[in-house]
Amino acid sequence: MNNADLLARSLAAVWHPCTQMKQHANADAGALPLIPIASGNGVWLRDFDDRRYLDGISSWWVNLFGHANPRINAALRAQLDELEHVILAGFTHAPVVELSERLGKLTDGALGHCFYASDGASATEIALKMSFHAWRNRGRTEKREFLCLEGSYHGETVGALAVTDVAIFKDAYAPLIRAAATVPTPDARRAEAGETPVDVARRAAAALERHLEKHHDSIAALIVEPLIQCASGMAMYDPEYLRLARALCDRYEVHLICDEIAVGCGRTGTFFAHEQAGIRPDFLCLSKGISGGYLPLSVVLTTDAVYGAFYDDATTRGFLHSHSYTGNALACRAALATLDIFEEDGVLAANRALAAHLGQSLAPLAAHPRVRHFRQRGMIAAFDVAIDDPHFSRKFYRAALAREILLRPIGTTVYVMPPYVIGRDECDFLAQRAGEALEAALR
Ligand SMILES: *Cc1c(COP(=O)(O)O)cnc(C)c1O
Repeated sequence: MNNADLLARSLAAVWHPCTQMKQHANADAGALPLIPIASGNGVWLRDFDDRRYLDGISSWWVNLFGHANPRINAALRAQLDELEHVILAGFTHAPVVELSERLGKLTDGALGHCFYASDGASATEIALKMSFHAWRNRGRTEKREFLCLEGSYHGETVGALAVTDVAIFKDAYAPLIRAAATVPTPDARRAEAGETPVDVARRAAAALERHLEKHHDSIAALIVEPLIQCASGMAMYDPEYLRLARALCDRYEVHLICDEIAVGCGRTGTFFAHEQAGIRPDFLCLSKGISGGYLPLSVVLTTDAVYGAFYDDATTRGFLHSHSYTGNALACRAALATLDIFEEDGVLAANRALAAHLGQSLAPLAAHPRVRHFRQRGMIAAFDVAIDDPHFSRKFYRAALAREILLRPIGTTVYVMPPYVIGRDECDFLAQRAGEALEAALR
């Protein structure tokens, strides 16, 4: 196997995600390179010629403890010899039981019932269906609408697109979608003169209140990405919004769904992002980092109250969602090994120091004359670049790859979201090379 061979075969046979394939095929300067990867180790990815790339976005936000992590590898090897998978309807196994118990404990028992799938969009679909069905089982059949935030992203299946508000993903498929209503985002960048992030949060919550006042009878749930709307450009907001949204959802009898698929698992500094608001949701969606970036796994956690709404003699009052790989034993084992690392290594505390160092590394970039709204929460840092160039993202991406770093700006927003095993020197390297890539992309 070599670089050229794999590239040609990939272009012929693999339809890559989120990609206009013709941009890979073009040989001209505007082309997007397709990168063959032979192996990974820690934060580094390597091609067949031993060219290396620092994975500054944790391979689309999934990898927490590095590629080829020895401890997760060992746990998976041991699990392979016990059980790879078994149907979860009518059967159960140790990894899924242990994982459910441990996740429930991480919510102090508030969300003690776990329903599994394999990807984030399915977790969104499950939370929406469960919310609707729980209300219906309680006789509230008129509660069949959902509410999401401006700039929200909850996945790209037809159901999940209904609560996603990112034009590039949604517009093409609009005729297929039963779109949810959107309410204003608490994005702190929306601050008017003299406003603090808390003021913006309160203003957005007031708009939510006006909407709920009028429409709560027909609304089943509000779905939010706690603290950071990642996919629409790392929009960060004050926890005050979550506190107010929780109180409003209680007052108007609307479920609160926290989609922590991107921000969960320690990414924002606490294990769950919603903890920073001192609240609990009715539904919590996890995926991406939960398996350490090893295997597809998602889970929706919910309360005794929701679970109780389904507990009945009638099959049709049960939750109706069948997924072949539900609770896959290998994926659950990878998740358990991931949780072990959190505990054994005191990762949340270590990440506080690491995040502070990452912020210092990026300080020169934050002060760059073309950089706006530098922001950081835990192990995510982002800034906007003042430039009017529709090709900025692609130019930066290419310039970054040429400098041994993998960063994929969202429009003109550059962000870093590295694995938690990144070293201090590697933070400095990432920031230094990102600065050089920025200069190159601005030229
Ligand atoms: C990535 C993401 C999803 C979708 O997850 P997939 O596994 O890609 O389907 C949903 N919500 C949020 C907040 C995400 O970041």
